[in-house]
Amino acid sequence: MRALAMLGIGKTGWIEKDVPACGPMDAICRPIALAPCTSDIHTVWEGAIGERKDMILGHEAVGEVVEVGELVKDFKPGDRVIVPAITPDWNSLEAQAGYQMHSGGMLAGWKFSNFKDGVFAERFHVNDADGNLAHLPEGIDPAEACMLSDMVPTGFHGVELANVQFGDKVVVIGIGPVGLMAVAGAALRGASYLYAVGSRPNCVMAAKEYGATDVINYREGDIVDQIMEKTHGEGVDRVVIAGGDVNTFTQAVKMLKPGGVIGNVNYLGKGDFIQIPRVEWGCGMGHKMIAGGLMPGGRLRMEKLASLLVTRRLDTSKLITHRFEGLDAVEKALLLMKDKPRDLIKPVVIIK
Ligand SMILES: [Zn+2]
Repeated sequence: MRALAMLGIGKTGWIEKDVPACGPMDAICRPIALAPCTSDIHTVWEGAIGERKDMILGHEAVGEVVEVGELVKDFKPGDRVIVPAITPDWNSLEAQAGYQMHSGGMLAGWKFSNFKDGVFAERFHVNDADGNLAHLPEGIDPAEACMLSDMVPTGFHGVELANVQFGDKVVVIGIGPVGLMAVAGAALRGASYLYAVGSRPNCVMAAKEYGATDVINYREGDIVDQIMEKTHGEGVDRVVIAGGDVNTFTQAVKMLKPGGVIGNVNYLGKGDFIQIPRVEWGCGMGHKMIAGGLMPGGRLRMEKLASLLVTRRLDTSKLITHRFEGLDAVEKALLLMKDKPRDLIKPVVIIK
């Protein structure tokens, strides 16, 4: 089969590989919709997970099941499915402890284009099919559903980690596709004042459509100062971090009220330490919590999130700025993600 792979750090190309074998609990799928991700860019061009040779890229897909193992109960060939980026081992001790995303080791629930081949291929393998695949609801656009692989569950997880409650004042730092879904998630959870931090015009527009009440442009001054001014010096109840770097945590602690929570879903690719400002952290006694986590994955969660598309409580179409057709176009879409033109939020490739 044909696949787009990481040939080594800084290098991608098309390769031929054998179709993966299907274990008794697994499924083999063909892609219907694929989306490249900033993580793919970190993996290839920043060497974020180290050297990989001829590893198929991609972890965001909607697909059609072509084969299932003999122990798979709820999926059969021909079923159209949403494939989550994180595919844990559901019988692991970590999963039993409620941290399935870390099954087999920290962050090891992330398997696609990390520990095994990804989804940018004519066929791809899904472990633990009954636990990890989700049925694609009737009438839902596969491209829009493809946002359920990673963008929606990761953005929403930031909201869960920050534990957003009715009426909370919430800041979302970073309004790329994940941050935009954090804005949408915080709005669904009942945020009152919802401050979106970003600057790209199309992202700012989408943030407003998803429920941001204010946009904070970091080019117009320090974001902490801007938030403190807007909140009359009080700060906010929750901060969701979906962009930035290690220094973003310092800013988040400063803009948070005592009792507030920071939820981070941003991948920190650089720097050895995160600094917590001593005074603004209440000299260690400020009751300002910092939580960071990888999205959970799992069929139940994916099917629940998909039901938000069915009932139109969530519209992921605003994320999709570029649509392509055919497997070959995955390369173009990936490079678009790398070059990040100003009108880009998220590209999707449809495969008929
Ligand atoms: Zn992704």
